[in-house]
Amino acid sequence: MNIVWFKRDLRLSDHLPLQMALQGNHPVLLLYIFDPLIMAQPEHSPRHWRFVMQSLREMKSRLEAKGLSFNMIYGASKEVFQHLIRLYQIQGIYTHLEVGLKASRDRDEVVLSLFKENRTKYYQFEQDTVEKNRMDRKGWEEQRMSYFDSETIDLDWSKADIIDLPSHIRDIFDIRQMDSGYFETDSNFQIGGELQARKVLSSFLDDRYLSYAQFISKPYHTVETCSRLSTYLAYGCISIREVYQAVKRKMDTADLDLPNLEQYLIRLFWRGHYMQKLETDADLQFQPTNRELIQVERDFDEELFEAWSNGKTGYPIIDATIRSLEATGYANFRMRATLVTFATFTIWQDWKEVATRLAQLFLDFEPGIHYGQMHLQAGLTGYHTLRLFNPTAQLEKHDRNGQFTKQWLPELREVPIRYLSQPWFMPYDVQKAAGCIIGQDYPEPIVDYEIATRIAKSHYWRMRQKLEVFDALPAIFEKHCLPKNIPGYLKALEINREEYLKARK
Ligand SMILES: Cc1cc2nc3c(=O)[nH]c(=O)nc-3n(C[C@H](O)[C@H](O)[C@H](O)COP(=O)(O)OP(=O)(O)OC[C@H]3O[C@@H](n4cnc5c(N)ncnc54)[C@H](O)[C@@H]3O)c2cc1C
Repeated sequence: MNIVWFKRDLRLSDHLPLQMALQGNHPVLLLYIFDPLIMAQPEHSPRHWRFVMQSLREMKSRLEAKGLSFNMIYGASKEVFQHLIRLYQIQGIYTHLEVGLKASRDRDEVVLSLFKENRTKYYQFEQDTVEKNRMDRKGWEEQRMSYFDSETIDLDWSKADIIDLPSHIRDIFDIRQMDSGYFETDSNFQIGGELQARKVLSSFLDDRYLSYAQFISKPYHTVETCSRLSTYLAYGCISIREVYQAVKRKMDTADLDLPNLEQYLIRLFWRGHYMQKLETDADLQFQPTNRELIQVERDFDEELFEAWSNGKTGYPIIDATIRSLEATGYANFRMRATLVTFATFTIWQDWKEVATRLAQLFLDFEPGIHYGQMHLQAGLTGYHTLRLFNPTAQLEKHDRNGQFTKQWLPELREVPIRYLSQPWFMPYDVQKAAGCIIGQDYPEPIVDYEIATRIAKSHYWRMRQKLEVFDALPAIFEKHCLPKNIPGYLKALEINREEYLKARK
């Protein structure tokens, strides 16, 4: 038989491994493995596996409606395949490349050597415009566009000979051994599944996209006005090519609001770019893009970290964002960046701890985008402009009426809008009238933003301006940047370096 091994590709359409397996002249087993080694990674939290479970259940019920079966099991991947290899003559294992954490790469290596020992063929296909073993970006953009523009795959299920696992194997690897929380659904979170993904896509293209650019940073609005497809893309409930082509079709018909959809496509293109970075340099999970910046040693202060990660910093936009993430798994781009710059600069916390905590919170946790963005916001590339997001200014600009902040911080509901961004300035009688005593009902700020950030920045720049940091850059450009941008980057680097040397003299 052939096996289709599903990973971050939880869909039944536009799926090359599935097509290839179905075309073979052998029965096909459709398989998802909940692997405890992957599930135990600190970046993962139950919300991720609930989404996966919902997506799988939707696939399973659609297949069952056709009289076909789908198997999800719980166990170490190697052990599962050892059993299957003993039991069946496996013609081939068909799967997608997963741009994942180190743990998933380790898993793949282990099973690959098992397959080699047993002469089991392993066919791994690329997706999301990411290429394995790519060490630079020559031709990458062209390759991406040709993938986006190529036809999506229509699967022919009419002759599908899908087989089920024998009951004794299902018993050994029974998913009911997993925590019962993974089987639950929480209506505050997006629900997994391919049909759900299509619903979200079509509601975006019906009318939600009309305010996309206008509200892109406004936390109260982006819940509706951004596409909200990131989690579906992260778990492969829909292919990025299907999304791209639906957007292009819409752009061909609607000539009124092209800029919104153009803005959207730019972000969709970033996706593969960041994922390719992690595929090219797997150590980005642990080390800065610019290795010399390892010298920017941040602290781990449990009290400060806990205050940040539990939404108790005394800075309302930070606390509201963390609390909304806790409850829904979603924050828009700007709020994520604000959280990171506050954590890694203002309170100077270890970026890896920050990355792990946010990964647990983000329902759409996608390792490539996540670590790429963490490096950018925490200043770990050594060439991006440092942009620190002042939480007071962010609230005043992007939550001007306080709708978002008051939604997630009910203790501030009666606080007059002029004090909302800096509630510690409320006179005591206003605090009393608002039912919010600072230091009692809502925390005092954990640090003074201006002072703490100034100290952090000066420390950071002392490290960033070391010659070694400059000198590491050309190799980074070569590896991760699009060839068309490299000359500009090199030129800027040269100027910066010269200015720095002059200043040092
Ligand atoms: C520190 C940090 C961590 C992040 N971690 C993740 C993550 O784990 N998973 C994730 O999907 N996004 C991540 N993002 C990017 C971005 O915030 C989310 O993709 C976006 O908010 C998801 O909402 P949406 O689907 O409505 O986005 P839209 O604005 O509708 O964007 C469209 C799609 O483009 C992609 N995208 C959007 N912004 C970016 C970006 N800056 N870089 C790369 N791709 C992008 C996503 O797939 C998204 O679905 C992170 C951003 C920051 C600052």
